[in-house]
This record gives sequence, structure tokens and C-alpha cells, in this order.
Amino acid sequence: MSEGVFADRLRREFETVGSHEELIAFSRDYCENAASEFDLSVAFSRVSWEVSTRAKRRAAAVKRPKVSETAVGDPIDWGERPTAAADGGAPTCTVSLSWRAFQSFDYGEWTATLRHELVHVEQFQRFGTTDHGPAFRRRAEALDAPVRVRHFATPAYLLTCTDCENVVARRYRDCKLVREFESYVSSCCGAALECDIPDETASDG
Ligand SMILES: [Zn+2]
Ligand SMILES: [Zn+2]
Repeated sequence: MSEGVFADRLRREFETVGSHEELIAFSRDYCENAASEFDLSVAFSRVSWEVSTRAKRRAAAVKRPKVSETAVGDPIDWGERPTAAADGGAPTCTVSLSWRAFQSFDYGEWTATLRHELVHVEQFQRFGTTDHGPAFRRRAEALDAPVRVRHFATPAYLLTCTDCENVVARRYRDCKLVREFESYVSSCCGAALECDIPDETASDG
């Protein structure tokens, strides 16, 4: 299958995700494809996936066992570590995906988040630890992934009632309501709406 056909298929798959299982299936498919496209060394057999409905701010995170005396840039010999898997390789880490973030992100933002998490997984499997240091930044840049993932709880667009100043709606991405807010009225007062774009807030994903 050509690159373009596969990308189209993934995009369609994303648009039809309706359950936690489907979000995991999509995210794993996307990550496996991205790993080969960007030549990442990630062992997916050592990665598990979960969807969190409680995460309040982080769009995604990699949960991993703490391994002592590790440093990014210092390759780990898992066979010599008590935290190794039964077969002597890297122990399983878990990519935890926030359902609420998925609901508020578009395809581009969600897949960029996944590439960010992939860099964490690669670092963990290689070095036993991961951070957002210079090596992470270089790798993230090569993958066109953000170094900091946006806090999904930060509203991108805030629509307020011009009469009572209540917040009428929050939207995390460009949409019809945001583009055409002048043609809507508030439900509280039947008044015109105002659309504010708050500052982007960096976050640690
Ligand atoms: Zn009002
Ligand atoms: Zn991160």
C-alpha cells in the first residue's frame, strides 16, 4: 500500500473512532506506521495501551516503572536490571490516552501527540528513563512532534455573551461556531457573542 493510501485510511479510521477500543486500535496503528516511517526503534510488543477518562490536563502520558541509575543518552542493558521483563528485555510501559483530549483534538493535533509519546517510549526502552531534554527535543523535531503537548483543558476559543459576559461555549479548535460566531446569539440573553482566543499554554505530556 502506498504512503498516501495508508495515510487516508488512518485519517478515515480516526474520524470513525467511537469507543475506547477503537481509539487504542487507531493510536496503535498510527504509531506502528509512524515508527517505520521515522525509523524509530520501538518494540510494540512491550507497549500496552489504555484510555483514561479521568486525566484532567495531560492529553497522553507514558507510564513506566522507575529504573534507578539511568540517564537519557546512556543505553541500558536490561538483562542486568531487576526491572527487566521475564525475557530480559525492556519491561512493558503503558501509553495512557485521554479520552477527553481525543474528543477535543483534531487529527493533526492527536497524531502529533502520539509522536511525542513515541519519543518517550523509544527513550524509555533504550535508556530506561525519559525526559524533555535536548535529545528529546532533537528527536521530536525530526518527527515533527511538539516538545510540549498542549493542555487540552485550556480552551482554544472562548465564546462569551456580550450582554451578561457568561461563557457560552468553549471550543478547542476552529469550527463553524468559531468561524461564524457573529451569526449566533447566546441562549442566556439572546445577545451577540464575542470570541476570545486565550494564550496557548504549554504542558508536560
Ligand atoms: Zn447572557
Ligand atoms: Zn512528554
